[in-house]
Amino acid sequence: MKIHNFSAGPSILPESTIKNSAEAVLNFAGTGLSLLEVSHRSKEFVAVMDEATALFKELLDIPAGYEVVFVGGGASTQFCMVPYNFMKSKAAYLNTGTWANKALKEAKGFGEVVEVASSKDSIYNHIPKGYDIPSDADYFHITTNNTIYGTEIKKDLDVNVPLIADMSSDIFSRPVDISKYTLIYGGAQKNLAPAGVTFAIVKEDALGQVDRHIPTMLNYKTHIDGGSMFNTPPVFPVYSALQTLKWLKDMGGVAAMEKINIEKAAVLYDAIDSSRLFKAPVADLEDRSLMNICFIMNDEYKELEKDFFDFATARGMSGIKGHRSVGGFRASTYNAMPKSSIQALADAMKEFEAKH
Ligand code: PMP
Repeated sequence: MKIHNFSAGPSILPESTIKNSAEAVLNFAGTGLSLLEVSHRSKEFVAVMDEATALFKELLDIPAGYEVVFVGGGASTQFCMVPYNFMKSKAAYLNTGTWANKALKEAKGFGEVVEVASSKDSIYNHIPKGYDIPSDADYFHITTNNTIYGTEIKKDLDVNVPLIADMSSDIFSRPVDISKYTLIYGGAQKNLAPAGVTFAIVKEDALGQVDRHIPTMLNYKTHIDGGSMFNTPPVFPVYSALQTLKWLKDMGGVAAMEKINIEKAAVLYDAIDSSRLFKAPVADLEDRSLMNICFIMNDEYKELEKDFFDFATARGMSGIKGHRSVGGFRASTYNAMPKSSIQALADAMKEFEAKH
């Protein structure tokens, strides 16, 4: 039976990423060595890092003046690297979910943090709008895709202060106007690679403006100057990231991917919206994520939740349980998720409904 991987992260990767990575574990670039035991300073791996960085820039059309770095620590380490490197005295945050809230809390140790708006009181079921950002904030931080709640800011915002975004769960899902951002970061374990590598797209001239001492490993400049090789980089996930980037280029790049993602998400949202049993907690179409599609049972069918979970699991659906903090269901439909798997889930929902 085919298993459809709807996991929120680590999550589905292109078949070619998994196959090429597996082959390199056995014999990396014809060296006769495993990718797992090769020096990061070998010419073969330096070529991987260079190609991954170049292709990353090419696919996102990253303009001059920006650098891409691959580091460890996950997006969670970025929550402190952001204020370390960019907060002089005051920063503004939009609270759209658990991860946004964690980033905001971390920043509080560095200066004044203004929460410009929050959707916490409505269990983060929408993206707040119509807020004011203090003009003296050193930056405004957003989380473009809220992995747990299934909301997404799908347009690049125009704001009055430097913009910083956590794009952990929607990077490479659509074209991004990088020039509108000072920093974009994310863990790679959704649209890019296995867990273990974190990316950051940094506007170089925005660095060096804070007075505090920045620990060497937490300073973006360290990793830019070192070409992501200041210390031992996560060799395996960087190799896998390169395989995913090559796949993405073959697929036609991020503009083509956005089209496909819109079509894929429509299949599932249509199944939810036309259903008697299920409903989407995120009502506003504009706010609905194309990457994490949340759905819950309608109140009168609440007791069927476990039955549906078992029914779907028996049909090969894996990872559809909602995050433990919200319950219900969540189907993560990242770039590598084929439309056929989403159709299979929509069909299972219809089949289940016909029985009830
Ligand atoms: N931000 C977002 C939007 C996430 O989805 C996650 C993890 N799922 C994180 C940050 C934390 O990432 P990490 O586990 O790499 O620290």
